[in-house]
Amino acid sequence: MSSQAEKHVVIVGAGFGGLKAAQELAGSPVRVTVVDRQNHHLFQPLLYQVATAGLAPGSIAVPIRGVLSKQDNARVVLGEVVGVDTDRREVALRDGTHLEYDWLILACGAKTSWFGNDQWAEHAWGLKNLRDALSIRERVLLAFEAAEREPDAATRRKLLTFVVIGAGPTGVEMAGAISELGRQVLVGDYRNIHPEDIRVLLVEMADRVLTPFEEELSHSAQRQLEDLGVEVRLSTRVEDVDADGVRLS
Ligand SMILES: Cc1cc2nc3c(=O)[nH]c(=O)nc-3n(C[C@H](O)[C@H](O)[C@H](O)COP(=O)(O)OP(=O)(O)OC[C@H]3O[C@@H](n4cnc5c(N)ncnc54)[C@H](O)[C@@H]3O)c2cc1C
Repeated sequence: MSSQAEKHVVIVGAGFGGLKAAQELAGSPVRVTVVDRQNHHLFQPLLYQVATAGLAPGSIAVPIRGVLSKQDNARVVLGEVVGVDTDRREVALRDGTHLEYDWLILACGAKTSWFGNDQWAEHAWGLKNLRDALSIRERVLLAFEAAEREPDAATRRKLLTFVVIGAGPTGVEMAGAISELGRQVLVGDYRNIHPEDIRVLLVEMADRVLTPFEEELSHSAQRQLEDLGVEVRLSTRVEDVDADGVRLS
């Protein structure tokens, strides 16, 4: 067991970074406190599966307390850090309490960048947390419901047009999964929706998908997306997003 005399390490964030730091300190003569505003660690790489109804939220979220339960020198605090006072060596939590530290590790992750177009957030979603994933899932499933009841074919196709912006790993996975969900899973459950009604566009400013990877892999990924029915639009900028749609360059 740890004692009050030992140095106190406060870790903000129980993502991969924060948990790894905490686990590396197991057995060290320090007290470790992991603070997170959520009670669960989220496996972000599979968020797209939740967003496309392939997995339930609980499949990719594990309780932080459970992960650290066997680590005697670690404790978990549920709370949102709203400030750090480096002179006093304490972090402030939203509930008005403070935690003193000797060492502080900030592992708060990242948030979605709208590349200077924050107003787009009103009409589109990022994919960083379960709330985002569930919003996308709801929107996709409700679009199918609306399309099923829509007698006009053109309006039906409009309802079933999905635009994914950005062909990095997340965009590629999302576009492929939406197309697969629509064409291979949902279409059989609806009477008035046909595979050709469903349109998934993946828009990318660069001249290939998955730019951090080798060109050969980009081309292979693009072919696989096209086999799934995704329209890949390369060298194309998104100029505006509003309630009616997306304007492309
Ligand atoms: C959709 C998606 C798919 C991905 N796919 C892959 C992949 O296939 N392979 C791969 O290697 N990487 C992938 N990544 C990237 C990888 O998930 C991230 O690099 C990794 O999660 C970052 O870990 P982190 O600990 O820095 O932050 P995070 O995992 O984001 O954790 C940050 C934690 O800090 C908490 N927090 C934030 N602010 C506060 C605050 N003020 N107070 C208290 N708590 C706070 C949050 O609740 C969260 O639990 C993917 C990411 C996304 C979004």
